[in-house]
Amino acid sequence: MEFDIPFNKPYLVGPEMDYMQLAVESLKLSGNGKFTQKCQEYFQDHYGFGKCLLTSSCTDALEMAALLLRLEPGDEVILPSFTFVSTANAFVLRGAHLKFADSLNYNPNINPAAIEALISNKTKAIVVVHYAGMACPMNEILTIGRKYNIPIVEDAAQAIDNMYLDQNGARSLGGLGALSAFSFHETKNIISGEGGMLAINDQVYEERAEILWEKGTNRSAFFRGEVDKYGWVDLGSSFLPSELTAAFLYAQLEHLKHIQEHRLKLWYVYHEALAPLEEAGYLTRMQVPEYSGNNAHMYYVLCRSAQERSELAAFLKSKRILAVTHYLSLHASPFFSPKHDGRDLPESDRYTQTLLRLPLYMALKEEEALRVCAEMGAYFKA
Ligand SMILES: *Cc1c(COP(=O)(O)O)cnc(C)c1O
Repeated sequence: MEFDIPFNKPYLVGPEMDYMQLAVESLKLSGNGKFTQKCQEYFQDHYGFGKCLLTSSCTDALEMAALLLRLEPGDEVILPSFTFVSTANAFVLRGAHLKFADSLNYNPNINPAAIEALISNKTKAIVVVHYAGMACPMNEILTIGRKYNIPIVEDAAQAIDNMYLDQNGARSLGGLGALSAFSFHETKNIISGEGGMLAINDQVYEERAEILWEKGTNRSAFFRGEVDKYGWVDLGSSFLPSELTAAFLYAQLEHLKHIQEHRLKLWYVYHEALAPLEEAGYLTRMQVPEYSGNNAHMYYVLCRSAQERSELAAFLKSKRILAVTHYLSLHASPFFSPKHDGRDLPESDRYTQTLLRLPLYMALKEEEALRVCAEMGAYFKA
């Protein structure tokens, strides 16, 4: 079906093809060339992250994180259930057992109060997801990490260019945990088709990260002249993207400011236009916690019931507008439910049943966003 207003449309800033052409003409096509380094430096310089390594996806970056933490069968990882499968799979691949923590009652992010009860002497990582780009309550989470000496991993796939705010100022999401993973999948704010990045904020992981990234060899050290030959020194895989992907990504990064400004404008169009529907009690709008900035990755509303959500989505579809649901809680998934410890996660289930995402993309016009809101109003009035 063709929609007048689809859910997403990837945005091209312009010079992507020129930069890819430059990469082709340079005949440096494999990874870790000039464009890869420019992208990595961009993140290190703009956000104060530790060493950054581009990867072929956020999934890859999470798999690197699980390897870096030396997870072994029987180790435990605490994470939210309302998240994408990759957040969980990366750790299951290493044999870790997952302990799912419930979401907050005001947004789908992990509830710090639920984390502490799940900690055991086998807990090797706490993974947080900044859902919709909104910051998790990081001070509470980092305090728990320090108290039990457990590293924090941020799944910052949706959180590019956003901040955690407190009395000490603003700190970039992805710069707070020991390790952080970003995504440049075509559904994110900044894209390269498929693509991702690992930010290594704790230096103890730096050297090994580079080795895992280069298929388990010390090739990077060799190219810097630090060793006189390179060989197989550890586990590894082919995590790095080609220069063509990095060239595309660099073009996008140069336009990040403009992209973020426009997305934020559209976000507030929704937020203001939907206020009357919230006041009338028909739905709940997403909110920005006082400790979070807003990177306008997503706009969602919470419906009163699963049934009302499917009726609303079907009504919008009949008006040629595509609004979509999101994650099925992982603790209840066909793959994991037999392994789940049986605890109820009511908040996670509630987001699974009632959350509806609205179209938000660069080519969306303000009038179109207003039309989405008007049709939603028409549904509730009918
Ligand atoms: C998009 C996303 C991922 C996966 O990103 P890929 O780059 O497609 O691997 C992981 N976690 C979250 C929370 C995401 O939104």
